Amino acid sequence: MNPTTLKGACHCGAVTFEADTPIEPAKRCNCSYCRRRGAVMSPPFTRDKLRILSGEDDLALYQFNTQVAQHFFCKHCGIYTFHQTRSNPQEWRVNLGCIDGVDAYALASTVADGASSSVVRDA
Ligand SMILES: [Zn+2]
Repeated sequence: MNPTTLKGACHCGAVTFEADTPIEPAKRCNCSYCRRRGAVMSPPFTRDKLRILSGEDDLALYQFNTQVAQHFFCKHCGIYTFHQTRSNPQEWRVNLGCIDGVDAYALASTVADGASSSVVRDA
């Protein structure tokens, strides 16, 4: 699928963004963080493909373990919007559940083995 401009928002609408990326292949991850949030994520793209349209000050950052990945979420509604990946810090993914017109649960998605690819135990 060719890249397209995806438009997304957190649940309360404070944070809105666009990303130029295909929707598939969608990905999930089994690391200790992702298995809790349960998101279906877009394919990776570079930071220049992501535009935060509103709510940059409403974003909170969560980091753990190796402190490499940057997991952003809305500080009001708590919804994960996008993150910078640990496996390649040049790459970002968005939460497909935040994207207008996308049924993230209808997409075939593989599960990344983030749990065993981390350098720290129980990542
Ligand atoms: Zn929000």
